Amino acid sequence: MTTDVESEGSPMPKTRPSILYGACVALLALVAATASAPTATAGPGLVPSAAAARAAIPTPEQHFGFKMGAEGKLAAYSDVLRYLKLIADRSDRVDYKAVGPTTMGNEYGTVLISSPANLRRLDRLVEINQKLADPRRTSPEEARRLAAEGVPFYHLEATIHSSEVGNGQAINDIVHRLATEDSDFTRKVLNNSVVVLVPSQNPDGQKLIIDHFNRTAGTSLARQYPDLYHKYTGHDDNRDWTMFTQVEAQYRLGLIKKYRPAMVHIMHQKGNSGSRIFVPPYGGITSENVPANMSSSVAAIGQHAARALAAAGKTGVGSGEYHIFWTLEQPGGYFPFTGAGIYLTEIASVTDYAYPQVSRDGRPLGPQQARMNLIEPYRSNTWTLADIVDYAKIATYAGMEYTADNGDKLLYDNLFAVPQEYLTKGVPSGTYAFVVDAKQRDPYATYELLQRLEWTDVEIERARSAFTADGKRYEAGSHVIRMKQPRGNWAHQVLGTDRYPEVRDCGECPVLLPYAEATTSLPLQLGVSVAEVMTPFEAQLERVPSVEPAPVSMPRAPGGKGAYLVRPESYGTAQIVSALQDANIPTFRAAAAFAGYPAGTYIVPATGAARQVLATASAKTGVPVTAVDRAPRVDGVQLKPRTRVGLLRGVGNMPGGWDMWQFDQYGVNYDVVSAQDFQRTSLSELYDTIVVSSGVSQEDIVEGLDPARYDERYSWAYGVGEAGWAKLAQFVRDGGTLLAIGSSVETAQQLLDLPIRPGVPDDEDEFTTGGSLLHQTFDTDNPVAWGMPDSWPVWLYNTQSWELTGNAGEVVSSYPAEGEVLASGYLRGAEHIRGDANVVSFTVGKGEVVTYGSEITFRTLPRAQFNLLYNAIYHGPAAKVDAAGIQDLRPRFGTDGTQR
Ligand SMILES: [Zn+2]
Repeated sequence: MTTDVESEGSPMPKTRPSILYGACVALLALVAATASAPTATAGPGLVPSAAAARAAIPTPEQHFGFKMGAEGKLAAYSDVLRYLKLIADRSDRVDYKAVGPTTMGNEYGTVLISSPANLRRLDRLVEINQKLADPRRTSPEEARRLAAEGVPFYHLEATIHSSEVGNGQAINDIVHRLATEDSDFTRKVLNNSVVVLVPSQNPDGQKLIIDHFNRTAGTSLARQYPDLYHKYTGHDDNRDWTMFTQVEAQYRLGLIKKYRPAMVHIMHQKGNSGSRIFVPPYGGITSENVPANMSSSVAAIGQHAARALAAAGKTGVGSGEYHIFWTLEQPGGYFPFTGAGIYLTEIASVTDYAYPQVSRDGRPLGPQQARMNLIEPYRSNTWTLADIVDYAKIATYAGMEYTADNGDKLLYDNLFAVPQEYLTKGVPSGTYAFVVDAKQRDPYATYELLQRLEWTDVEIERARSAFTADGKRYEAGSHVIRMKQPRGNWAHQVLGTDRYPEVRDCGECPVLLPYAEATTSLPLQLGVSVAEVMTPFEAQLERVPSVEPAPVSMPRAPGGKGAYLVRPESYGTAQIVSALQDANIPTFRAAAAFAGYPAGTYIVPATGAARQVLATASAKTGVPVTAVDRAPRVDGVQLKPRTRVGLLRGVGNMPGGWDMWQFDQYGVNYDVVSAQDFQRTSLSELYDTIVVSSGVSQEDIVEGLDPARYDERYSWAYGVGEAGWAKLAQFVRDGGTLLAIGSSVETAQQLLDLPIRPGVPDDEDEFTTGGSLLHQTFDTDNPVAWGMPDSWPVWLYNTQSWELTGNAGEVVSSYPAEGEVLASGYLRGAEHIRGDANVVSFTVGKGEVVTYGSEITFRTLPRAQFNLLYNAIYHGPAAKVDAAGIQDLRPRFGTDGTQR
């Protein structure tokens, strides 16, 4: 039961509130008509008459100069924001709140829409949601009362994928209607819910795409934006729901935690060959960690929308598609685990964002056989932007109506009962707790893991003294995450390992593969040892109030012959090396183990400048620094000061975008390799090491973007031709370092005729992982694998393993020859990959090449493997120093980077 806005605290029958509200509006209108107070006499922020102000709200057509959905017309993001702010100024039903700047400095904002009375008591409504979401301080009886008093919040995200532009147009009509119309529908939605509209989850992309579209109108240039529509992630902006790397993902997380919506409607578009719109239920396999209430409320809202679309005469409404509910990365990772329903709508797209799609053969678009999951096929051969806008509005109004009609159920069954179930019953697997051993290889990884748990409201405890669990002893300081807690299912999802089931729709049918990835195991990706404990145990535990990097303190300063040492295991060292490079601090690495330190240990002459840089980087990462009075007598290398890194990222290539983000985060001295760079005599004028992101093909480099279709501003991505291709090979032969990741190994193989051949068949029936973690052994004596454990899983999605065809090449890491290959997720065809090489290093001419068959930087998730990249980035250009040289800290490079 939702509460009437005019009678807080005394629940009324369902039909009453709208009548009361209607009466109230009529009264206001009367006051407006009789009172003649001019606007000027109203105090600051006061509206003389809601109805009068409402009347002054222009329609989208009046504001933008065209109807939403008009062919070839798209309202730009900044204009949309201006319009929404204008409505917020003039309507007492609408508030606008800026959330913060985006990656590229645009504004990420939200629009709150509800009855004036609800907006006035917004703080109380939010408090109710917060209490409902916290079963520790709310009893079921109290929750019933709160569900009756409160109203559900409907989080409406107009778009996350910026090329799916129709929804961002539809919201202008939607907000205008809710702000101006007096009808049973609007009264119901306004009285009985709060809409939290996010006009764009990725404002940068919205701007990039629509500005490009408008700029290219009437030209012969391509209308579709060629590059990533987010500086770093592009379409992967929707694959950031376990790590929350991007500021926009953190904004969404913040909004969900602030308002605790019972329903989250995410508006998408899809390809244009299937149904015209998809509404839930979803199809395929789900995980037992996914709350049942959440799934069924989503199925209900989807079918409510299907009914509304049918009633409006809209056809081609499909459901039961999208096998996305396994790890839930695609529909929002964390969010369904809060109990919020995740209502996705996916509408068929058109041509070049805003022009009709007409079938070539004149036949109707989409499947033509009526089925229970597509009751009325779409019979027309044309599909337009106006259709998208229409379908989007109907599906949204239906979602709002369902939410307003079922507020008490959604508030209680989803928002309260989901966390309460995990608090009282624990998780379906029966797991008691996960224990994060105090003894870890990588303090920074442990910090990053615990931080993600903290961000997502997982309760973390720390042991005050040693304890034993499942027969294993853990030291004081070990962390414990018990499953009987409100976010137990989420914690289980990200801390546990996955076994994706082999399910087929029929005997001959292919296995249903996960839509996104088959595993979300954070400990395996980050490199943290975590134990799943099944049996309850006793331990002295205290809640961790906030997660911080491991406390470190700098050792006393050694004398002039002394050195600071940093062990190489942590991927936090990537930031330390960058900081040393940035400050031009001489840095050595040991090529062999010494005095308890492994090969790869960093040796830094103990100057005051070095101390300052190390102290800052160490405090930030929790990676400790030690000191010795005399530098060790061990063979090694000196890193080249200010090593210059080039990133061949590929236009519109998501792995390249993620690599850029990582380099920016870690402070790597890099530039994106551009076509203009190839006009130099040699690429070595600019770069010491070139990293080729996964997904960059020979054709991308040689052909590139077509200058006839993409103007000057994309000239960096033009092709470099055969001459440029040859220059890239020459760069290596002359002494450059080339690092090829994932599918770009094939590119490097073609470039330099490397003696390797693919290890696994392309046929998905024979071999596939669906995105999983596979066991791997490392040769930690090889500089590329310095600091790596002897074995740890790597991420393999749809790239290759490799077999060596000659004697050249050193295998740095490989898949197990026997025993388990799969660590977490799914693996079909293990026999194809057994014993195959993954990371291989080659000497080519005077240069070095490392090929990483697996996606070691995939969405910046498998961080435990990052050092495979950073080791090689700096090792290639480094100079050998003998044991006496290291002991005397005799540099081979001057600080200007030239060899002595
Ligand atoms: Zn989408």
